[in-house]
Amino acid sequence: MTDRYRSFVNSAIGRQIAPRLGLPQPPVLQRHRVGDPVVDGPVLVGAAPGGRLAGAIARTLAAVGAETWTTEAGDLRQTAADAGLAPKIYADGAAGDQRFKALVLDATGIADVDALGELHAFFHPVARRLQGCGRIIVLGTTPELLDGSARIAQRALEGFTRSTGKEIKRGVTSQLVYVAPDAEDRIASTLRFLLSPRSAFVSGQVVRIMPSDRDPELNWSEPLKGKVALVTGASRGIGEAIAQTLARDGAHVVGLDIAPLADELAAVTGRIGGSAITLDVTDDDAGAVLAERLKADHGGVDVVVHNAGITRDKTLGNMKREVWDQVLAVNLRAPEAITRALLDAGTINRDGRIVGVASIAGIAGNFGQTNYATSKAGVIGLVDALAADVAARDITINAVAPGFIETQMTAKVPLGIREAGRRLSSLGQGGLPVDVAETIAWYASPASAGVNGNVVRVCGQSLLGA
Ligand code: NAP
Repeated sequence: MTDRYRSFVNSAIGRQIAPRLGLPQPPVLQRHRVGDPVVDGPVLVGAAPGGRLAGAIARTLAAVGAETWTTEAGDLRQTAADAGLAPKIYADGAAGDQRFKALVLDATGIADVDALGELHAFFHPVARRLQGCGRIIVLGTTPELLDGSARIAQRALEGFTRSTGKEIKRGVTSQLVYVAPDAEDRIASTLRFLLSPRSAFVSGQVVRIMPSDRDPELNWSEPLKGKVALVTGASRGIGEAIAQTLARDGAHVVGLDIAPLADELAAVTGRIGGSAITLDVTDDDAGAVLAERLKADHGGVDVVVHNAGITRDKTLGNMKREVWDQVLAVNLRAPEAITRALLDAGTINRDGRIVGVASIAGIAGNFGQTNYATSKAGVIGLVDALAADVAARDITINAVAPGFIETQMTAKVPLGIREAGRRLSSLGQGGLPVDVAETIAWYASPASAGVNGNVVRVCGQSLLGA
């Protein structure tokens, strides 16, 4: 679906008229294309004293060939040099009109309120020096694993990144990554994702990374090579984009949809060299059928994406029980039952990935969506309930919570609500199915072994549920 307003304000005439009339100017977001570098501009790295991630950050930046700058902190410069980087030194005022594509701060050393001043010290001089579609990334320590002043100060980081996401426009995103002690060597996949245009529509999010002793061989260009991915609701919209993106990353995709959509599904899986299963996920034996088919045809499954979902909106007073049941059955009962069936049958391979598709309605609630919001909040509950259990089998479970994404589902929304859904967010526009798909591809990567139990909103920092 075309966002005509955004196209207009980015046209030659629109660019002149919109600022004069004080109209919002949602930018054209930069998105990843195959062959693009992870980050296509200079990255400025800083560290609060006492941090523990500078080495891991530097190794990732060296691996992606980023032009790296540091502030003048002596230790940081040495750490970067040890990682094979020859960082340029940025001193406020001395680098002319130098601009940055990303600002990255290791804030793990911040252990009390006074040390929060390090946020101001690092970001204030460069806040106006970010390029369009730039990135702000703060890395801290998981507060729940700390006590006392350090816990308070680390929790405070969230207010900073959520605010910079709202304040700095032009497609800039801002994220907080909490890295547990001993998970320093697990940050690469997350840092790459958040630095790159793959995370174009993700902003104001908090990601938690846990330690993992899995040490898969990493293939960054085709991370899912040799893996099998099941995607439900794959015949169109977000599911189609997920199927395409996981196939791009090397997976053999098994697309699933209901029988009436068999032709559309076959067209999608045919284009990506995948296979198709027509099945209603709400069938009582859906889990057993899938366990059997996936084992027989592929020896198991590595990535399971529960994307199939429906809306049947009515205010509660007008909602028939049947409609309530339909939505709960597709959106929540099926993902839970299928996940349990595949786990019980041992169909999900070691290093497997389970991904739920929730919604910001499941976080914020929504008018006319008591059924849908209940089901989507339940998807978040599924992640919470299973994360520890699956981790014991070297499997992860995470969810995405999309905001307004341009699909057939949102095309049916009345115009006024549709426009509000698009504009009431920091990025001022709806996202594309590929934005959800890229987030799922990051979860699915073998390099994301430490990313477990997360719910990341793909919503351009929508004000709904903010
Ligand atoms: P969509 O275009 O309606 O696609 C969903 C697919 O799932 C359809 O092909 C649908 O078939 C299929 N499906 C429905 N019930 C099924 C069942 N019982 N068994 C198997 N397949 C079934 O929706 P979308 O916009 O791409 O959304 C994909 C997911 O993202 C959903 O879980 C949705 O709730 C979530 N989401 C979307 C947005 C958004 O802005 N678009 C925002 C937040 C969350 P039918 O023809 O039967 O519907």
